[in-house]
Amino acid sequence: MPDIAIIGGGVAGLTAGLYAARAGAETIVYEELFVGGQAAKTHRIENYPGFPEGLDGFAIGTLIEKQARKFGLTVSTHSVTAIDLVRRCLNIGATSVSAEAIILCMGASPRKLGLPREEALVGRGVSYCATCDGSFFKNQDVAIIGGGDTALSDALYLARFCNTVTIVHRRSTLRASVALQKAAQEHKNIHFAFNTICTALLGEDMLSGLMVKNVQTSEEREFPVSGVFIAVGVEPRTALVRDQVELAFDGAIITNGRMETSLQGVYAAGDVRDTPLRQIVTACADGALAATEAVMFLAVKES
Ligand code: NAP
Repeated sequence: MPDIAIIGGGVAGLTAGLYAARAGAETIVYEELFVGGQAAKTHRIENYPGFPEGLDGFAIGTLIEKQARKFGLTVSTHSVTAIDLVRRCLNIGATSVSAEAIILCMGASPRKLGLPREEALVGRGVSYCATCDGSFFKNQDVAIIGGGDTALSDALYLARFCNTVTIVHRRSTLRASVALQKAAQEHKNIHFAFNTICTALLGEDMLSGLMVKNVQTSEEREFPVSGVFIAVGVEPRTALVRDQVELAFDGAIITNGRMETSLQGVYAAGDVRDTPLRQIVTACADGALAATEAVMFLAVKES
């Protein structure tokens, strides 16, 4: 039985693993896909302190994993199918694993627009990940929906090889950081459609364009593009623990400053938790705190 089980191998989970393993706790991280989480889908990270040239988003997860393994962390690629937080017990398919403490780091998934045929057109012109799918749209016209950091950093990435990138944003001011706004505004391939929403996805087998509406004039028009990248925020991935732990209105896990959830011995860290800032630096800090608290919890239990 591991001392600490961590669910999710994004930067929060891996940093928790690094701290817990280095503190001598037998620790396992369960990650169903690939390590790094949302960071692995980000082309370049420019605001992680200490790296003036920026960081490769894909590399950071594998680097933390390598570092943590040196201290004895186990990373399992099995998918956790159920969790009983009161008993601190996980199901991995038919196998059941108990742990002394649990750190929830399941992260957050891209929010959907909720348009008809959105799901059917995923991989056929609709994408939620510019760094994963962008290369399919070389020399083509694409749109990005959203006005946050994801939308603008995706735009800057895509503008390097797409013909045009149009940011379709529902308001007249952007939510993204000023640095990203400035870089996007200065890029000759990036255009803006402000006060504009997407009302329909056009095309049968493949996306051929968007129906867009100006919310000020109510004018609706077709906007031909071969790809659309939806970047309208994230939803915390808390389906496994719903009804077991206290959640905020948007489904994020509520913790105190020590990353403790409403259940003793259960911690949460990173994008899955109710937090005002979802960044790599905050996810790492959450992970470090959660692990330190979990190790302390084990020590008190044993004494
Ligand atoms: P976000 O900051 O929540 O922004 C979401 C954007 O989508 C907002 O502009 C919002 O419009 C728009 N939106 C939401 N629902 C919409 C809908 N139904 N239709 C049309 N537009 C809609 O999400 P994010 O950009 O994914 O960022 C998530 C977190 O990750 C943030 O904390 C962000 O700072 C962080 N992040 C950081 C970096 C970095 O380089 N440092 C990169 C990516 C993400 P309104 O503005 O009108 O609400």
